[in-house]
Amino acid sequence: MTIILFIYGACIGSWLTAMADRYATGASYVYPASHCATCHTPLAYWQLVPVFSYLTLRGRCHYCQASIPATTFLLEVATGIVLTSIQYTTVLPFLLLGLWTFAALCDARAQTFPAWVSYLAMGLALWHQPVTIIVLGGLLFACIRLLWPRWSHPLIGDGDLDMLLSYGVLWGVTASAQWLLVASGLALLYPGKRERLPFLPFLVLSAVGWWLWR
Ligand SMILES: [Zn+2]
Repeated sequence: MTIILFIYGACIGSWLTAMADRYATGASYVYPASHCATCHTPLAYWQLVPVFSYLTLRGRCHYCQASIPATTFLLEVATGIVLTSIQYTTVLPFLLLGLWTFAALCDARAQTFPAWVSYLAMGLALWHQPVTIIVLGGLLFACIRLLWPRWSHPLIGDGDLDMLLSYGVLWGVTASAQWLLVASGLALLYPGKRERLPFLPFLVLSAVGWWLWR
């Protein structure tokens, strides 16, 4: 069962990477079929197998030898490992981690991600919560949605706050504080200094690490 779950997880990771790439480049989610990002040659079936294809191709396109980012391979392995832990819990945390991983991949490439991710993640986090939490969480979420577009130079992105809120609702204040501390630490250690650092990748990395640790 662990091996089967790993295979499914790796496939999901591969799919999330492809979807985020297509979002960042403004391409359609559906057409054309999977192809090399550099030479645009459609990939053969044996070049589409998660984890295995990257190793067989040694991280390069079979046709033009352009390098395939190592993050693709690492993400496939990570989502594979994460999904094996579904045996011990419910589906909800995986839906949220999947959604936020997709958002983080978009954020890393384009410094933005589709708004529907926030709405869906918030809806899932508030699912089956007590009425007071639903009202309070809904109000805070509405505040972020209303106020952030009016702030000319926000110190933190509204997408990061959306994830903080959905995470806090689901796992509580203490877990969120530890998770945020690790994410901030990772972001501070990040060598590539930028004026605007995409923070979601660090938040997701910290969330996945915390999840596997548990
Ligand atoms: Zn190529």
